[in-house]
Amino acid sequence: MLAIRIMQEQGIEVEALNFKTMFTCCQDTSAQAARALGTNITVIGQEDDYLDLVREPQYGYGKGANPCVDCRIYMFERAYKFMEAVDAQFIISGEVVGQRPMSQKRSDLNVISTNSGLEDLLLRPLSAKLLQPTKPERDGLVDRQRLYDFQGRSRKGLIRLARDFGFTEAMIPTPSTGCALTEPEFGKKVHDLIQIQINDTRWDYEALNVGRHFRFNEQVKVIVGRNHKENTQLEYMHRMEDATSTSFLEPISFIGPNALITGPSTDAALEYAAGLVYRYGRSVEGEDNIVQVVQADQQFNLTAHPTERSQVEQTIASVNSGPVQ
Ligand code: SF4
Repeated sequence: MLAIRIMQEQGIEVEALNFKTMFTCCQDTSAQAARALGTNITVIGQEDDYLDLVREPQYGYGKGANPCVDCRIYMFERAYKFMEAVDAQFIISGEVVGQRPMSQKRSDLNVISTNSGLEDLLLRPLSAKLLQPTKPERDGLVDRQRLYDFQGRSRKGLIRLARDFGFTEAMIPTPSTGCALTEPEFGKKVHDLIQIQINDTRWDYEALNVGRHFRFNEQVKVIVGRNHKENTQLEYMHRMEDATSTSFLEPISFIGPNALITGPSTDAALEYAAGLVYRYGRSVEGEDNIVQVVQADQQFNLTAHPTERSQVEQTIASVNSGPVQ
């Protein structure tokens, strides 16, 4: 928001872009912000090739599985195409030198400008005075003197500037990235997929947003719903054309979560998955606790029992990071 307002203060018309990936939070405030600033906003989504950079980023990961430098290059490549399509003259971003350790070191900003192809068409108004003059500054389109020299992680100066511009407290964004890839627990699930499940697909990544994930062996993972919404989502996901799940489990004689098996549904995998349904369900002692299994070509029932592993194993996200969920 600040970068846009700085440009508007110089009489420059701005078109806002919001980049969304399958890992970014759906409840962002960018539309409200654009309305408050009086700009159009266009949402750009990621394509399937985005997963390639999540799997193997050239510039590495942050604390989670966030390939921020590669991701920003990807975003700015798309922004560059948009810039040409709408006949705009340059791109601005709200990046601040040193604000985020993974992608906003001065050297990272240069890498992002260069590798996105934007070079000196990418202006960072909040830190511009610390960086080489960009083309719009050299050409006199932008008054460099009215740009800023913010750096580091402190937000105090930025918040002061936001207030000077008349932004209300509600309009000042939180420091959160809103990106699940930055969360260490979510990152473990991503790294599990990348390292163990070599033939992962988009469906596998989308499934990371739903349920508890348990690794049974190199080929098999079990996903267990945590609430009614997730149970419904798992049922829906199992029916998707590109689903890698091979079994959908639903308790029919007791209250409990739904579950999916990805990878081969061997007898051992089914027993383990049914054991997890038993563990998180309200199984009835002394009675058969029946789970229905739906596969592509058949449907059958089996009795869920607690198994040694299903009773104690931690989720992929919580391994080495705290108590069993
Ligand atoms: S936080 Fe997420 S969306 Fe933002 S640059 Fe990093 S990987 Fe990309």
